[in-house]
Amino acid sequence: MKILKFNYFLSLISFFFIISCSSDDNSGDNSDDFRAENIKSLGVSAGDLLSDSNFTSLTVEFAFTLGYRPLQETIDSFRVFLEERLNKPDGIIFIETEIITPFVDTQSITEIREIEADQRTQYTVGDDIAVFIYFTHAKSDNDTESTKTLGTAYYNTSMVVYEQTLRDLSSSQGFDLFILEETTVQHEFSHILGLVNLRDDDIHENHEDPSHGSHCVVEDCLMYFASNKSQSFRNRSSVPVLDPLCIEDLQAKGGK
Ligand SMILES: [Zn+2]
Ligand SMILES: [Zn+2]
Repeated sequence: MKILKFNYFLSLISFFFIISCSSDDNSGDNSDDFRAENIKSLGVSAGDLLSDSNFTSLTVEFAFTLGYRPLQETIDSFRVFLEERLNKPDGIIFIETEIITPFVDTQSITEIREIEADQRTQYTVGDDIAVFIYFTHAKSDNDTESTKTLGTAYYNTSMVVYEQTLRDLSSSQGFDLFILEETTVQHEFSHILGLVNLRDDDIHENHEDPSHGSHCVVEDCLMYFASNKSQSFRNRSSVPVLDPLCIEDLQAKGGK
């Protein structure tokens, strides 16, 4: 069963009262050479992102449908999160790209991969590793009446945030949009960093939740599968943080 995890993508999902993650098959094609470093399986670039041994800088491309840029506060706080955990002595560069795509109601991960293939502008080159974060107007095609996907990490350096879904939850449930955005971005990016035990190589593998693979057993950790009960978003005044075990797993791969 463990080997199946190498083909995961991981999503942050909102149930009526629970935010959680699910997994599904993920396999990319490797036909485009210039994309080869950026279409690998989720988790394989954890060490390259965390340490400075292969890559000394990071470029993060924030791609968004016109009108769906995340809050500036979200972008600024994400930089703080990255600078706290990643060893990138030559810096972390943020780039913004407007995505042009038909205004559809839902997108599948396959469609999101196609949009990325067409419109991503930043790829891993030399000693700079690049990450693509797409804030989309569309909702996940996995959504149902009672469950909503907030974000999904689907390649080694790629993730999507369902910005319209976050805005709908914010307006309909009264949740703080910044906390929704920041929790989703940090949670999905932490899957890209290999949490929790995504590739069976964490030093603290015993904090992986046996019932909810790739998530943490510590209930107030950012990587707890249901750390984010919808109800708690309403009263939450801060984004959940990584617990010491998750941080030590990142440090073991070269993180700070
Ligand atoms: Zn998750
Ligand atoms: Zn944890």
